[in-house]
Amino acid sequence: MVQRVKDWLQSFLFLELFEGMFTTGRYFITPKFTIQFPEEHTPKSPRYRGLHALRRYANGEERCIACKLCEAVCPALAITIDSERRPEDGSRRTTRYDIDLFKCIYCGFCEEACPVDSIVETGITDFHFEERGQQIMSKDKLLAVGDRFEKEIAVARAADSRYR
Ligand code: SF4
Ligand code: SF4
Repeated sequence: MVQRVKDWLQSFLFLELFEGMFTTGRYFITPKFTIQFPEEHTPKSPRYRGLHALRRYANGEERCIACKLCEAVCPALAITIDSERRPEDGSRRTTRYDIDLFKCIYCGFCEEACPVDSIVETGITDFHFEERGQQIMSKDKLLAVGDRFEKEIAVARAADSRYR
C-alpha cells in the first residue's frame, strides 16, 4: 500500500521528469566528452604504438640491414622480408619489406628487436584503408612514412627511456 502511494505521488508530482531535467541541466554546464575529430584528438600515451615507419640515416641511407630479426620476433607473422646483396657495396638490403596491418597486433616487438632503430612504430593513429590489399605496408610506403615524420620520430625516441 505504501509503495502504491509512493508511486502515485511520484507520477502526480512529475518527480522523474524533474530528475531527468536536472541530469540534463547538470551535463549542459559540465565539460563535454565529445571532440571535433580530426581537428581535435584525445590525449594519448607518449608510448602509444601506432602506424609503422622505416627510418633512414641523415645522409639518406636506409637504416635497415635486412637482418630479419623483426620478422623472426613478430608473434603475428605480419612481417615478410626478402633480401639480397647490394651490388655497389655488397651490403645486405631488403628487396621486399611488407607489414600486414590486419595481422599486426601493435605489440612493438619489431622495433625493440631492431638493432639499427630502423623499424619503428609512430604515434600516428589516423589511417584507414579503402581497398583490399592497402593494409599491406610495403617498403616504399614505410619509408615514405619515415621520411615524412622523421623529426617527430627522433624526438619521441629520444624522450622514451626504453631507447636510451
Ligand atoms: S608490432 Fe608486433 S605484431 Fe606488429 S609487426 Fe611489429 S612485431 Fe609484428
Ligand atoms: S627493420 Fe631492423 S630488425 Fe628488421 S630486418 Fe631491418 S634491421 Fe633487421
